[in-house]
Amino acid sequence: MLIVPENLIAELVTPEMALTAVEAVFAAMARGEARNFPVVREALGHEDALYGFKGGFDRSGAHLGLKAGGFWPHNLERRGLINHQSTVFLFDPDTGTPTAMVGGNLLTALRTAAASSVSIKYLARPDARVLGMVGAGHQATFQLRAALQQRRFEKVIGWNYHPEMLPNIAKVAEEAGVPFEAVPLEGMRVADVIITITSAFAPSLMADHVGPGTHLACMGTDTVGKQEVEAELVAGATVFTDEVAQSVSIGEAQHAVSAGLLSAAGITPIGAVINGAHPGRTREDEITVFDGTGVGLQDLAVAAAIVDLAVARGIAIKVDF
Ligand code: NAD
Repeated sequence: MLIVPENLIAELVTPEMALTAVEAVFAAMARGEARNFPVVREALGHEDALYGFKGGFDRSGAHLGLKAGGFWPHNLERRGLINHQSTVFLFDPDTGTPTAMVGGNLLTALRTAAASSVSIKYLARPDARVLGMVGAGHQATFQLRAALQQRRFEKVIGWNYHPEMLPNIAKVAEEAGVPFEAVPLEGMRVADVIITITSAFAPSLMADHVGPGTHLACMGTDTVGKQEVEAELVAGATVFTDEVAQSVSIGEAQHAVSAGLLSAAGITPIGAVINGAHPGRTREDEITVFDGTGVGLQDLAVAAAIVDLAVARGIAIKVDF
């Protein structure tokens, strides 16, 4: 069995590698060759922690396993550890024997950024030049860095509920040589692509904040009750997702669905666009939404790529098990 600890991940994984792995697994899901298992997420009644498992099997990539982890809200203040903690476990699909244990913290941020990046690659207008960010927390920096690779963006505009956090994303834009401007939500109308990545439970971005032809990647809503975007905005758009079952239950689309404005049949897996089974955007003025809910197969695909690279570089730790 191989171990790739968290402290080795940063030198192994790149946004490009995460994008390739996530794109391949979304395509496999849409071909029916890969499936996610039902998500387990439980309050432990200890340390106020939420803990759970996201697993799956990708027959085409031969990835079987799970990500175990969650959120320990007191880690930072009490122990100097980050609050989100996760680890990926991979198994040999032929025998069930464990093959690898991989640190999942940085991996989670990169696989989540890769998902919105795949959506921009396939759904944003080719001439997109203004990138809008709603959110400026931990994930937002990774989202922005990955998105900037997908089009020749000339400007980043940002809004955040806590404006004092905006320098987090301004720094990423400026490091990439792209000017950044803080805007009110109404200012998002000029954006060609908007990423929402907040932990909000009420919508910030309304239909009249979004111009025609925009691609939206809604990435923050991954739990029942969370919401970043007005339900009518989602219902009026062409909606794509990583996995329809999650989109309607824990994703941004849950609100449009429960309001009767959208149904599961109206939501397309992004893998169908990658595979060429769905045309994706068909009009210049169409608003497209990618509802990125986060699936276990993303974690497994990126973890497997990390293990391969760690082996190739001779830095994977081998243990008898
Ligand atoms: P964070 O705590 O670092 O940042 C939270 C962000 O939400 C900040 O920008 C904050 O200002 C904003 N926010 C907080 N309350 C708000 C409110 N009431 N209205 C509007 N904005 C508000 O969190 P993070 O690690 O960046 O995670 C952001 C979200 O992404 C979380 O909801 C997390 O669960 C989700 N997430 C999704 C995936 C996925 O695969 N889709 C993966 C990882 C994280």
